Amino acid sequence: VGRLVLVLGDQLSHSVSALREADKTSDTVVMAEMMDEARYVPHHPKKIALILSAMRHFAEELRAEGWQVAYTRLDDPEATRSIVGELMRRAEQHETTEVITTQPGEWRLIKELNNAPLRVRQLPDDRFLCSLEEFDRWARGRKELRMEYFYREMRRKTGFLMEGGKPAGGKWNFDHDNRKRAQADMLRASPMQFAPDEVTRQVLDLVETRFDGNFGQLRPFWFAVTRAQALRALDHFARHLLPGFGDYQDAMLNDDPFLHHSVISMYLNIGLLNPVDICTRIIEEWQAGRVPINAAEGYVRQIIGWREYMRGIYFREGPDYVRRNALGHDRDLPALYWGGDTRMNCVRQAVEQTGKEAYAHHIQRLMVTGNFALLAGIDPVQLHEWYLAVYADAFEWVEAPNVIGMSQFADGGIIASKPYISSGNYINRMSDYCGTCAYSVGDKTGARACPFNLLYWGFLDRHRERFAGNPRMTPVYRTWDGMDAGRRSEILSDAAQRLDNLDAGRVV
Ligand code: FAD
Ligand code: SF4
Repeated sequence: VGRLVLVLGDQLSHSVSALREADKTSDTVVMAEMMDEARYVPHHPKKIALILSAMRHFAEELRAEGWQVAYTRLDDPEATRSIVGELMRRAEQHETTEVITTQPGEWRLIKELNNAPLRVRQLPDDRFLCSLEEFDRWARGRKELRMEYFYREMRRKTGFLMEGGKPAGGKWNFDHDNRKRAQADMLRASPMQFAPDEVTRQVLDLVETRFDGNFGQLRPFWFAVTRAQALRALDHFARHLLPGFGDYQDAMLNDDPFLHHSVISMYLNIGLLNPVDICTRIIEEWQAGRVPINAAEGYVRQIIGWREYMRGIYFREGPDYVRRNALGHDRDLPALYWGGDTRMNCVRQAVEQTGKEAYAHHIQRLMVTGNFALLAGIDPVQLHEWYLAVYADAFEWVEAPNVIGMSQFADGGIIASKPYISSGNYINRMSDYCGTCAYSVGDKTGARACPFNLLYWGFLDRHRERFAGNPRMTPVYRTWDGMDAGRRSEILSDAAQRLDNLDAGRVV
């Protein structure tokens, strides 16, 4: 009797472990579009459409390669709502109880499959450069799990950007060169866009009727939905945008959502691309002398460093990681995250483009929406669910460590050695947002003062006990303590007022 081979919506790689293990002649691939998964958090319609269209294209590719595929569409009358329900139904049809799959990237699904009344074997997901065992070996016994040291190990292991055992260019990390402000540039290329084919058009119609109320715009839809398209998008980035990636990595501009970013995380995370494809292509450009080392190194670090490190942390820390709340933050997520009115131009830009594109780049996520939430003391679980819902690339294994750990310090400092917070000054330095904002970034108190300026000191004051002893935070506490008492209390009372406004639902 053949087995069932479950392939999930983010496992769309022809070499995924479950397919490698399976036998084309006797096993049946099971793929299902499930309402429970689509509704688990209110996902952005573009994200749902990306996954469903890529799944349908992938199933067609498998069939063309000779696989038997049992595919359930969202609107199939027979469809059950959950993965286990779907497996049970297919098991009965195919008279088998044996299932193989690749381990999901989310504890919740791993558990559901473990508890299913079938014999489900979950194989390791080896589409990563570092296995979970290898990460654990690296982490064991270390007092601090700093990404930079993990990254160096990965450079040595892969040989990427290494010359004779030494880092190319003489340094491991060129971030120091990567903090330039960007100028509006009509000639800058945009990410490659793809016109929806018939399969995608059908999916768009379906998503439009089923998920009408979700935050975010479905159309225009231009994402790649096959590996061939995703490879073209990667190539386009490598040729046209990579040279400026390093310099402008942290820059933000009004009405320019993408700048020099690659916008490929959504393809990588659902399996259309893999880390080796990407790094090989990037390094090729550097070897040909077409991109500077700070761009190539900066990019490779995100893929073999940050991405792999985040996954290692998520699985090492266990299922309760997403519930951590080391700073005890409990303010409800304000409506402005769902497109409600705000006077803060930086936040409005980040949220508006998120609604439009299901995308924001790293510094917008970290230093605008993340920074604001941390300074305002927003409940990290609600924030985590927001990030998981609104970004096309959001899957829990990578989203949660970025939000709970890196952005919110809710894991107590496993990922970040100090909280990523800033006043309006940083945003002003890296963007042109403040020039058109209703607030004044130069004002530290008063009605026009930038909320980031006020909440920054409010946060530091509130969490003094935890952070004052951190050597990297000593200079800011020294600055705070150096202000006269009257000034400090004015700032704190203005900060409290802003938070009251937020709680009362007034426009902030
Ligand atoms: P580029 O800027 O072009 O970077 C290249 C690639 O490096 C990305 O495609 C991505 O695969 C990888 N990368 C870069 N930074 C990280 C990082 N911190 N962690 C993991 N991979 C990284 N990334 C996700 O893939 N999914 C998420 O749900 C997600 N949520 C985030 C939430 C917060 C609060 C923050 C601060 C970051 C989050 N990131 C997430 C990381 C990063 O912001 C995105 O990977 C990046 O913005 C994707 O856009 P891009 O492809 O244009 O990336
Ligand atoms: Fe954002 Fe403050 Fe600048 Fe306005 S002034 S854009 S709120 S940082």
